[in-house]
Amino acid sequence: MSSDVRLPTGSAPSPAGAMPVGLAERSAAAAPVLEVERLCVSYGKVQAVREVSMRVPAGSIVTVIGPNGAGKTTLLMALMGLLPSQGGIRFKGDDCRGADPQQRVEMGMSLVTEKRDLFGSMTVEDNLTLGAFCHRRQGRAARLQDIDRVYALFPRLKARSTQLAQTLSGGERQMLALGRALMARPQLLLLDEPSLGLAPRIVREVLQAVAQLRDAGLSVLLVEQNARAALQIADEGYVLELGEVALHGSSEQLLHDPKVESTYLGMLRAE
Ligand code: ATP
Repeated sequence: MSSDVRLPTGSAPSPAGAMPVGLAERSAAAAPVLEVERLCVSYGKVQAVREVSMRVPAGSIVTVIGPNGAGKTTLLMALMGLLPSQGGIRFKGDDCRGADPQQRVEMGMSLVTEKRDLFGSMTVEDNLTLGAFCHRRQGRAARLQDIDRVYALFPRLKARSTQLAQTLSGGERQMLALGRALMARPQLLLLDEPSLGLAPRIVREVLQAVAQLRDAGLSVLLVEQNARAALQIADEGYVLELGEVALHGSSEQLLHDPKVESTYLGMLRAE
């Protein structure tokens, strides 16, 4: 993994290649890239997300942790416009309730689902190229530059550029899914359980890459069951239970919160 991460052109609110931003500076800047106001999402009569309000400050990682069925995936799907919702969603100050998923990608939001949704019979490089679909008018040179930046973040993808996606390991698939999302030049990355099914060493590698992206200016909303690993790289966290925000605080506060410790951190201490 490169220590000098540069985002695909135009991704960051600050110029690409900017120096890492410290936590204090991040908090001081703190203009929200995403503001969610009393969001509700239902599947028929089942209300999966209930009046959830949250914000993602620009250039920060905000994590959403919580048990199975808490509504984490549903929240991300609704933010991306893949599920209907009630309530407010503002992205960079603009109301995006009327925008469809494709328009939200063009606005600067990019989702990596927990299934990773790769095109298995296509090569690594072709999957990356497809991620640049919404910037197709920018031309080949810009696209190749963006691909090089993904390869700089995940060198093992470069070594496998002509390999079919279906033959990649779980960790490599997650890296490719992340890389493909970056090809859309997002300002906000929505990540659903990037650690799912991965060995602890690979989880660390993937999450370190996410932290590097944040340090280069990207904003991230990170849904994770691996609460400890998520809180270790995040700036803030929300605990979602039964579709509602049960707790919100800085990662430091949540890591030392007795309820969070006993409910979400205990079993993962061995990692
Ligand atoms: P996990 O960590 O297990 O992925 P989650 O926090 O992401 O869980 P969701 O997948 O968002 O939770 O599910 C929230 C609630 O909505 C659950 O009760 C689930 O059964 C329900 N649900 C999710 N998808 C559907 C669906 N397509 N139809 C009906 N109910 C659904």
